[in-house]
Amino acid sequence: TPPFDVNLVRRDFPILQEYVNGKQLIWLDNAATTQKPKQVIDRISYFYEHENSNIHRAAHELAARATDAYEGARKKVQEFLNAGSVNEIVFVRGATEAINLVAKSWGEQNLHAGDEIIVSNLEHHANIVPWQQLAAKKGLKIKVIPVDDDGQILLDEYTKLLGPKTKLVSFTQVSNALGTVTPAAQIVHLAHLAGAKVLVDGAQSVSHMRVDVRALNADWFVFSGHKVFGPTGIGVLYGKEALLNETQPWQGGGNMIVDVTFEHTQYHNAPSRFEAGTGNIADAVGLGAAIDYVSRLGMDAIAQYEHYLLEYATGLLKEVPGIRLIGTAPDKASVLSFVLAGYKTEEVGAELNKEGIAVRSGHHCAQPILRRFGVESTVRPSLAFYNTCAEIDVLVNTLHRLAR
Ligand code: PMP
Repeated sequence: TPPFDVNLVRRDFPILQEYVNGKQLIWLDNAATTQKPKQVIDRISYFYEHENSNIHRAAHELAARATDAYEGARKKVQEFLNAGSVNEIVFVRGATEAINLVAKSWGEQNLHAGDEIIVSNLEHHANIVPWQQLAAKKGLKIKVIPVDDDGQILLDEYTKLLGPKTKLVSFTQVSNALGTVTPAAQIVHLAHLAGAKVLVDGAQSVSHMRVDVRALNADWFVFSGHKVFGPTGIGVLYGKEALLNETQPWQGGGNMIVDVTFEHTQYHNAPSRFEAGTGNIADAVGLGAAIDYVSRLGMDAIAQYEHYLLEYATGLLKEVPGIRLIGTAPDKASVLSFVLAGYKTEEVGAELNKEGIAVRSGHHCAQPILRRFGVESTVRPSLAFYNTCAEIDVLVNTLHRLAR
């Protein structure tokens, strides 16, 4: 039995009552984005109805309320990640912007011709392209950790790639295309032994498992609010405080300065130095409400229930004639990826849509890993804690009908 009442939980998500093509929506596109509980929607409304202001605390009452709400959300993120200080939490637009921030600030300042960056074969394009752009500009080399036929990182091969030229290892904690959970703490530890910095992409992990950045010991950790039941347009860069403070900001403007003359500008310490201009205040507050929501359910309870759902779905999908599951690691989270003989992936997606089932069919912004398995596209149902076995049954029954 699930560690919480899924039917009660579902009532918190108004969109789950939507009808699509005459069928009740079955949202299995959680790896692309998650749905929002009423608590998040209401919190954002409350902000605009009662607190809206720019965040210059001293200016007036609403400025103080907005500042408290925004900084309160930062505190919630800090506790959610078990970061050592609120100063380590930088609000950004999402995981993509967080990675670009590190590439364009720390990377620009610290990497030089001949230096090496290691990524894994599993990466989302957001954790490939910014490094490629930097590599082209600076003459860096990018090396790729291979995976085995189940989609698991090959640690021995990784160890061989590490060397004195390795300056950065940047990898995902959970693959968005296959669902593989990587041995993140081990990868971080080995990188540090080689003297490299490490960035962990948590875009697909924070919504499915407890994350402790201090235990992980990565130098940076990034995630997007919209994948953890919060709004779009807000995300987080966690960075170790000393490292953030020794990195020059990438964008200049208001909020990030201590003093400006025409000759010289003195920057604030983190996080302000990386938050130039007016940020996405309301959505940061909404993200705080999303974190409250999942924390109340409990990340361990969520992980346990989703594991049960994933096992249930995997067992049934294997029985569908002509299906090929891609990504068969024993340690996985949320994601199922497959192709079905006789159908293009977009045809499967369209047939599922007729039944009200939302899945992504495509390359999932992770072309290298799909090509590793000889495909350009998969069908990708991805689970969250509000999904049920009954929904999975509808998915599987539809696939059986197609397979016949
Ligand atoms: N990394 C991973 C593993 C992802 O799944 C995603 C989103 N699909 C991203 C990075 C990028 O996130 P966003 O588009 O929210 O910036």
